[in-house]
Amino acid sequence: MPELPEVEITRRGIEPVVLGRTITGVTVRNPNLRQRVPRDIARLVVGQRVKRVLRRGKYMLLECDAGSLIVHLGMSGSLRLIETRSQPHKHDHLDIVFGDSALRLRDPRRFGVVLWSRGDPSRHPLLSRLGVEPLGEQFSAEFLYRVTRGRNVGIKQLLMNAGVVVGIGNIYANESLFRAGIRPRARAGRLSRAHCARLVSAVRETLLAAIDAGGSSLRDFVHSDGASGYFQQSYYVYDRAGLACRVCGSAIRIARLGSRSSFFCTACQK
Ligand SMILES: [Zn+2]
Repeated sequence: MPELPEVEITRRGIEPVVLGRTITGVTVRNPNLRQRVPRDIARLVVGQRVKRVLRRGKYMLLECDAGSLIVHLGMSGSLRLIETRSQPHKHDHLDIVFGDSALRLRDPRRFGVVLWSRGDPSRHPLLSRLGVEPLGEQFSAEFLYRVTRGRNVGIKQLLMNAGVVVGIGNIYANESLFRAGIRPRARAGRLSRAHCARLVSAVRETLLAAIDAGGSSLRDFVHSDGASGYFQQSYYVYDRAGLACRVCGSAIRIARLGSRSSFFCTACQK
């Protein structure tokens, strides 16, 4: 599943190519994504010039003169820069065309979203209730301390709650908690200010390290026609149950927490 780092890498990859360019067409081969692509999408966006390429959580926003094109990659989507004439693959459901080049959405499981929002996109129902950005200034130790007071849920579940902070999926929640030395099941309300400070730093470090790792393969990611398009990384704990902790050598444990698997080291995380 594309996580925040993949979306950010995609944003950085397409920004220099589409910034300032005018959308000349939209080719819809299959409109049946998570939400149906509007029937009049081409009429709405053709002639619009891209002023900014932004990311909000895992949504990508092509901000134009009259509104924003909102794109979400869903469970399996990727956005690639292609030559408009190139033959579409089976799961290439939509192209946003800029003359002889285009952004092509490939989405085998069709959980993606392509919508047009007139005016301020932050008021769109998909975006209006999102929590703070984990790489933004609002996600501070003080903020995390405040939102965790009186919360009896495990800190991992709270980190993955997009109404609190966006874009931290299962992989990065596990990895951040390892870096912070905090168990996934630790009660959110019991965290001290120092814990919150460590965790905020760990989340940032984890996400930025992933973005850096993806940045080195940026060219391949945006331009390739490969099967997955997601970059590979090495993790401290995620998907490493039974293997030796990279820091202390203890066996990594796995536990079910909610519906998701949690991975942790009982020696490194308290
Ligand atoms: Zn360890």
